[in-house]
Amino acid sequence: QQQRTQAKMDTMEVPNYGTVVVCPYNNAHQILAERLQKHLVKCRRQYPNAKITCPFNNAHHIPEQELKLHTKTCPDRGQMESFKYAIASTPAPPPQAAVYVRSDGTTVLATAPPVEDVKQDDDENWDDMDAPAYNPAKYCANNLIIRKATHKTAAEKRQFYEDERVRHEMLKKGNA
Ligand SMILES: [Zn+2]
Ligand SMILES: [Zn+2]
Repeated sequence: QQQRTQAKMDTMEVPNYGTVVVCPYNNAHQILAERLQKHLVKCRRQYPNAKITCPFNNAHHIPEQELKLHTKTCPDRGQMESFKYAIASTPAPPPQAAVYVRSDGTTVLATAPPVEDVKQDDDENWDDMDAPAYNPAKYCANNLIIRKATHKTAAEKRQFYEDERVRHEMLKKGNA
């Protein structure tokens, strides 16, 4: 039965066996879906084929016979569809999310620097008004001066104890 190699793809559920896919190269090959990729690697060698560029990703060069199968499973298929949708609805590309550090040291994953409003329960964030970008050196320097003891961070505590040590040594020297 010399059957013309067909691009038709067919799947069927076989009870107690699994999903069976008909090989795009030879419909006498009925392959378990999970083994299909391995099978195709072997089978495509036996069938000379022209390569066709995947409509979803032009880096995908698909044997003609596998194109239908590929377009059903191509990982870029969804991206292409949402890409088209994004073009149609919003002209701007979605902004990249990034981790931003707030003035209180907490982090936030956002697409823009967090706007820290004035509802803060203390007056310690005045320095953020004209300094939206996180500057570690400035942050630490300001913090040493303005942070209340109850708000100490680990770094501040270390600095506090270091200051205390220096102070105690000065006292010791003064007493000597
Ligand atoms: Zn096959
Ligand atoms: Zn593809």
